[in-house]
Amino acid sequence: MYAKPDSHPMTTRIARAEDAMDAALKSLSYRLTETEESGMEPTRQNGALNAMRNDNARGQAPAPEPAPEIAPLPASAQRVPDAIATGRPSREEAEAAVRTLLRWAGDDPNREGLRDTPARVVKAYGQIFGGYGQDADALLERVFEEVEGYSDIVLVRDIPFYSHCEHHMVPFMGLAHIAYYPTKGVVGLSKLARVVDTFARRLQTQETMTAQIADVIESILKPRGIAVMVEAEHLCMAMRGVQKAGVSTITTQFRGAFRNDANEQVRFLTLVRNKS
Ligand SMILES: [Zn+2]
Repeated sequence: MYAKPDSHPMTTRIARAEDAMDAALKSLSYRLTETEESGMEPTRQNGALNAMRNDNARGQAPAPEPAPEIAPLPASAQRVPDAIATGRPSREEAEAAVRTLLRWAGDDPNREGLRDTPARVVKAYGQIFGGYGQDADALLERVFEEVEGYSDIVLVRDIPFYSHCEHHMVPFMGLAHIAYYPTKGVVGLSKLARVVDTFARRLQTQETMTAQIADVIESILKPRGIAVMVEAEHLCMAMRGVQKAGVSTITTQFRGAFRNDANEQVRFLTLVRNKS
């Protein structure tokens, strides 16, 4: 069974990410209260957390005066204008959330080895979840039409990718293989790899990612047929839960000429597996 293609994957996923952040912030202020009540020694991070909590409190109370159209950003706040527009948390808030998770795991975010970890994690998130800010459609806009009438299969196989499961935020990684029968032209081969990256660099399920890759190629290139196969190992299965390493999960999407023709599917699978 394949997940139904999401009609607004980016919007939905951003909304889910925001929900998760909201939950993290709620838990953060809860734990802050708990810390104060238990009389624990205030730490360096509480300054930032208090600032954040005050900030949140301001957000909930009716604003005493209207905010200026484009407020000059205080250097200390480090908010980016985009974050204000979308309600996305600031970098400072994201780093505070990482400190909370470090404490939740049982470590001390103030010890030397971890002091810069929240900043590094937030920076790494910018890359490994960079797909939210990318438009896969735009990658396929440039079509090369002069291919001397070539209309046979175009297969790009063994595209490596790294993604994170949306259930545990734990990595899953593997290879994607994409084939299509061009009608109006072909795209640069590297563009297909970038389409894979765009969807992989979001919180995902392998099934959804496979369908999203097929969807975007289908809607932009309108090929006579498209086949997508993703094979991956899920670390959330290897490291936790059933703890089975080396298990491979394979998902496929066959559209158009590939959908109902077993010979076309066999041809695709043969080309994918026939490694010289
Ligand atoms: Zn998982």
